This record gives sequence, structure tokens and C-alpha cells, in this order.
Amino acid sequence: MTAPVAFTAVPDWVRALRTYEPGRPLEDVARDLGLPGIEGIAKLASNEAPLGPSPKAVAAMRAAAARMHLYPDGYAHALRARLADRLGVGPDHLLFGNGSNELIELLFHALAAPGAEVVASECAFLVYKLVAAAFQIRFIEAPMRDLTHDLEAMAAAITPDTRLVFVANPNNPTGTRVANADLDRFIEGLPEHVVVAVDEAYAELLDPEDQPDTLRHVRAGRPVVVLRTFSKTYGLAGLRLGYAIARPAGIQLLERFRQPFNVNAMAQAAAVAALEDEAFLEETRRTVREGRAWMERALHEAGFETVPSEANFLLVKTGAGRETFQALMRERIIVRPLDAYGLPDHIRVTIGRPEENRRFVEALAGLRV
Ligand SMILES: *Cc1c(COP(=O)(O)O)cnc(C)c1O
Repeated sequence: MTAPVAFTAVPDWVRALRTYEPGRPLEDVARDLGLPGIEGIAKLASNEAPLGPSPKAVAAMRAAAARMHLYPDGYAHALRARLADRLGVGPDHLLFGNGSNELIELLFHALAAPGAEVVASECAFLVYKLVAAAFQIRFIEAPMRDLTHDLEAMAAAITPDTRLVFVANPNNPTGTRVANADLDRFIEGLPEHVVVAVDEAYAELLDPEDQPDTLRHVRAGRPVVVLRTFSKTYGLAGLRLGYAIARPAGIQLLERFRQPFNVNAMAQAAAVAALEDEAFLEETRRTVREGRAWMERALHEAGFETVPSEANFLLVKTGAGRETFQALMRERIIVRPLDAYGLPDHIRVTIGRPEENRRFVEALAGLRV
């Protein structure tokens, strides 16, 4: 027998790092419950799309499968051209990542030298804080107001050492969004030594007339990086594909830290097809918005408080969130406990297909935890 590897040289701060707790996979839960398969389990834990990916994206992946012996196009030319055209920015304004999570890390690589500070709000998307800890960067959490980013508090948290500010809009796990005019004022008032990353993971769900025009700030040359993803509304979370939109000078800095083949060829092919299937995107949007309205009403009727959401999930006050999560799991419904976000009395539930939403509400209403 070989001796166990002790990793004795690992510093204490590395040992103390927390890891991200993802939504529990279907197969895991099936095994725990002693079920033969995943059928009948509703995964409403990771804000995945209710209808899956576009059939056109699936066809594109099948067609691409026979070419997987080839390295991907490291510059993603085809996807880049189509997306740039769609967004009305130059192709040099885009950077693709293995999920937008990778882009969050690239931002730290490029901007957060030792001594730098990063600002977000409390109950913001947890990855910002975890990556800051991994980079040993001071992470300042501004207070929220009604579980919504308080942009004035965030601006007040900026110091001469601040390099990066994260605004998830709508935010995960709260689902809340800041007013467009407030965001514009915040961005326009930022000092020059700060870059703001506006994480728009749920942007495609918003009504076109509600969409914040964050790209306007990019075009105006402001230090803004917009993050988007194919994981949520496009239903391609399993492929890991996100993108950043920024001025070419900023993109080039982030490029220095990007692995040459970070975005796989299957993902590129699927995304090109998904972008073209606007009818499917619209169907997903409609399913989420109708499901969300139904679920809010049904939860309120059952006596639960929810936070007004503009994303594909709801924050539900259940009391004893982790126990509720566990009890729902026994009912074959996976949701997300939120103690890691300092919200131990809440769970987050993704809007699923209508029958999943109904099962969730009935199960929650019937729980005794
Ligand atoms: C889901 C989510 C992401 C991560 O997206 P990936 O592209 O799958 O890495 C980023 N930001 C927010 C706010 C999210 O909710």
C-alpha cells in the first residue's frame, strides 16, 4: 500500500476555503432514495431551463459529435460573429468562457492584485465571494434593502483599493433587479479605478422594454463588463458556455488568462443553433413567466411569503430552509437551501414545467418540518 498523500505544505488559508455547494444531481438523489432511476424526481435546484435545450441545438450537437477528435476553434469565430451581430457590438468586444463562472475568475486574475478589494452586496451570487477567498482578496459586502441591491450602499463601500464591483441583475438567489435608471447612475458615477461586472445571467427572461441597456455603457467606453450565459434561458447549462461583453482593451486583458481551448466545440455548435431558434427561446420565456406567476399565487394562497422575482426562480420563506430542503427531497423534489447565503429561513426553487411546479407547491404545503 502506498502512503496517503499528506499535502502537508498546504497553507491553512487554503484548508479553510469553502467550496461551492451545487444543486444536488438527480442521480445522487435517486441513489439516496433507493430509486431505480431519475424518473419522477423534479430538479428545481439550479435554475435550469424547464424545456431543456432547443431541438435545433441538440441537432447541431449530434452533427458536431463526429468531429470531436478536433480541438475546438479557440477564438470561436462562428459563434463570435453571430453573437456580435445580434448584440450590435464588434467581435472584439466578446470573450467566451467555460460558463460565465470562468469569466468571474478571469476578472479576478486581471484586476485583483494583492491588496485589492472587491465589492458586492450581501446575498449576492456566492461565486464572487468564493473566488475572492481563493484569490485572498478582501471582499466587502454592502447591505441590501428588501433583498435588493442597494446601489448607494455599494457605491459607499468603494475605497481607493476597490478594483472590482459585482452587480448581479437580476440577482441570484433573491431574484430581485435594480431600477434601470439607478443602475445607469451608479455606473456613470463610478470612480475610474473601478471596473463593474454586471452579471446578467437572467437577462433573456426580461421583457424587451424592461431590459437594462447595459451595453450602452460598454459602447460609451465605461469600465463595464457585462456577463451573460447560455446556461439559464437557453437551456445549455451542461455545456458550460458564458460570455463577457466589454471594450476591446478590457477583453484583451482578460484574454491573457484564458486557456486556449476553454470553450468546447460542442458548446460552440449548440450555441450557434440556439441563437437562431428564437421561437424556442420565446417558448421558454413564456413557460417561465407563466409558471412563476402561477407559483407565486399558489404559494401565497398556501400561506408562504415569496420575494418578487424577475428570474426563473423564487425565494420562498419556509422557516428551517435546510430541513425543508431535506423533507422535499424525500418527496422527490430537489430545491436549494440558502444557509450559505445567510438566508437559513428560505429555500430557492426554480420554475419548472407546470406539473413540477404543482408538485412542489403541494409537497411544500403538506410538509411538517
Ligand atoms: C447561474 C449563474 C451564473 C453561472 O452561470 P454559468 O454560465 O453556468 O457559469 C452566473 N451568475 C449568476 C447570477 C447566475 O445565477
